[in-house]
Amino acid sequence: MEENKGNVVVRFAPSPTGPLHIGGAHTALFNYLWSKHNKGSFKLRFEDTDLARSSEKYEKSILDDLRWLGLEPDEAPSRQSSRAARHMEILRALVESGAAYPCFCADDASFEHGDHKCGDMDRSERDSRVSQGETYCCRFKVAGGPNYIYHDRLRGNISVPTAAIEDFVLARSDGSATYLLAAAVDDHDFGVTHVIRGEEHMSNVPKQEMIYKSLGWNVPEWVHIPMILDAERRKLSKRLGAMSLGEYRELGWAPEAIVAYLATLSWAKAPVDRIASLEELAMLFDLDSVAHFSPVHDEARMRHFGRVFVAAASDENLTRFCEEAFSSCASPKTSDDEKLALIHELLPECATFGELGSAIMKNLSFAGDLHTETPEWFGDFVAHLALISDADWSSSNIKNALKTFQNNLRLKGSDFYHPIRIFLTGMSQGAPLGLILSCVGRDASIKRLGVPVTKRTTDMGGENFG
Ligand SMILES: [Zn+2]
Repeated sequence: MEENKGNVVVRFAPSPTGPLHIGGAHTALFNYLWSKHNKGSFKLRFEDTDLARSSEKYEKSILDDLRWLGLEPDEAPSRQSSRAARHMEILRALVESGAAYPCFCADDASFEHGDHKCGDMDRSERDSRVSQGETYCCRFKVAGGPNYIYHDRLRGNISVPTAAIEDFVLARSDGSATYLLAAAVDDHDFGVTHVIRGEEHMSNVPKQEMIYKSLGWNVPEWVHIPMILDAERRKLSKRLGAMSLGEYRELGWAPEAIVAYLATLSWAKAPVDRIASLEELAMLFDLDSVAHFSPVHDEARMRHFGRVFVAAASDENLTRFCEEAFSSCASPKTSDDEKLALIHELLPECATFGELGSAIMKNLSFAGDLHTETPEWFGDFVAHLALISDADWSSSNIKNALKTFQNNLRLKGSDFYHPIRIFLTGMSQGAPLGLILSCVGRDASIKRLGVPVTKRTTDMGGENFG
């Protein structure tokens, strides 16, 4: 469904009390896609009214992470705390109109209707208690009625018993606005047309709508997207081991792959067979095809997108990304063709360029921890391998030499290759041995394979004299 093109304004409004996580990034992405789909505006507001827990460090890291994902806000971010005077201006208007009243009970007290009488206090008593310096908070006066009904874009009409909505606090006794008031005022002033946020905010809607209506403001469209669950179907949270965007970035994840993955969470029409660009996703995006039930964060699906992204890189880029790994553990004589052959052997399992670099290093250095007994033939084999000159040291020549030696010995493949691989890498699996030996280089390979030969000789000596 098309909205008023050009009039759509959305906001992502995180609290800067921690780094951006998958859930927050998902909310930001859906806001961004909806604004771009409608050629509207995407704003960022830091809800930093919890001054003790908010920090500029997190504001910066959240903005950096959004930019890294490509979700650049259309204007400079704002801070809720900077708008305190405006919140108080609206609060005074609400008290003046009788929509809100000073309450001399504690800020954190919650009441059923009629449990306290501050709302019915006559004006002179109220004014005299205020002027005598008594502390008070300000509460919104909730009108009676059987049910409050509001509309959510993803869920339709939602009915809440009005009796369950107490006269809620708009401003605390220290004069600070609560989230309910501050978010409503800011969203109105910023011209927000669609409030796209996590479903944990649904309980705030009736209260926020009451504020809007008592001020004669247009109510925005509510779009509560489902929370993302972990594999055990709990809310994805840092406490339960969910990683931040910064951590994925440090692990070498491509932002394009993460965005393509996030788009699939509760939006069934997101492409899964390729890495769609933000532009393409924005074109395809439709709030009416977003599901309201909670998706599960699926690491395997995220890795799928990572692999698709890495596999699409050009050979030139792959070589460049792996340069550091090769220079740390390959022979400087290794040709680009041999490097590329190794890269393409390892590529299918890698979700990031970082993983590819690690796989190269694991295969070319003695990184594993497996050991095995040195077979009787191993010394002869190393001597046979050493017959290949440095100039002829290539994966195809090495492969042929291995095959010849294996045939002469009439050894089964696994009996022959398994110990060589373990002595070379300490692992039982990996890239083809010819390729590994070629990249490690002649002298380094002969030296590494010579270690178990020396060990066997020493062990035999020990036996003879023991
Ligand atoms: Zn009261």
